Amino acid sequence: MTVPRITPDTDTLRRLPKAVLHDHLDGGLRPATLVELADTIGHTLPTTDPDELAAWYVEAAGSGDLVRYIATFEHTLAVMQTREGLLRTAEEYVLDLAADGVVYGEVRYAPELMTKGGLTLSEVVEAVQEGLAAGMAGAAAAGTPVRVGTLLCGMRMFDRTREVADMVVAFRDAGVVGFDIAGAEDGFPAADHLDAFEHLRRESVPFTIHAGEAHGLPSIHQAVQLCGAQRIGHGVRITEDIVDGELGRLAGWVRDRRIALEMCPTSNLQTGAAGSIATHPVTALKDLGFRVTLNTDNRLVSGTTMTREMSLLVEQAGWTVEDLRAVTVNAVKSAFLPFDERNALLRDMVLPGYDSVR
Ligand SMILES: [Zn+2]
Repeated sequence: MTVPRITPDTDTLRRLPKAVLHDHLDGGLRPATLVELADTIGHTLPTTDPDELAAWYVEAAGSGDLVRYIATFEHTLAVMQTREGLLRTAEEYVLDLAADGVVYGEVRYAPELMTKGGLTLSEVVEAVQEGLAAGMAGAAAAGTPVRVGTLLCGMRMFDRTREVADMVVAFRDAGVVGFDIAGAEDGFPAADHLDAFEHLRRESVPFTIHAGEAHGLPSIHQAVQLCGAQRIGHGVRITEDIVDGELGRLAGWVRDRRIALEMCPTSNLQTGAAGSIATHPVTALKDLGFRVTLNTDNRLVSGTTMTREMSLLVEQAGWTVEDLRAVTVNAVKSAFLPFDERNALLRDMVLPGYDSVR
């Protein structure tokens, strides 16, 4: 029997089980929650209308510059300096993932950016874990279970990465599954933080590094070969090491060692790392056999969801359900979870969901 090739509609896409590895907690608040929390602390927003605020983000973050993109986070971070703010944003984060059909997510944030209200790094992590647990309980009760692991980010412009790495080790049995460094890539090399990465390697803790977004191959080379990242945040500029389908040494290493690329198409359009969905390297890299994963990066700031990213690729880059299944399987394979738990996720949640739309 030949399998009919369907063009999935948005409802079908929303129901597909998804896995997201690259999504920032402070980039994904609900606009209405941001308005409400800002009001309670007297923080001034560009507008207090939730719809206008959502539109403002997409506009303000779409300047084509990573540094200006990051600057829009001042408002979300302003309301994430208290235990109450963290509990609420973390709980809603999980519920929103569940509503988007996500069955496994890795949320990331930089605890050092959330201490202005007097919380310690530990207190920040504890509050977020508590909020995430409440969200997971709520999603399970609603019949849409989702598991969320946490990545703690160190900021590459500052000097607290080793301290944050210590936090990852301290909370590794409490839901923190890995580490990342974030912030302005250009001018702030990952190798400046070797101390943190070496510590994590000694402790057998996995990590990813934002690289190959605002800076090119040298940044990816450092992340993979000097620091030892198991995954790369974005990595779009690995294409600079591919000429007419021929892979250079570094691109070959990334593909052959199955180093996952956490690709975020809409975010890349906003920061200028890619020109259009149709020409975004995610499609070519998938076709070349890289371990490509699909991600949102910042749902509020980029005005997106996993369902929307999938829709865009289906509509503008010719992706099929098979392609969506492949990148979801890739994400689960590269999740910072134990092997048996990844297999169980695939067997029990992901594969049955894709089989049902064939
Ligand atoms: Zn990111």
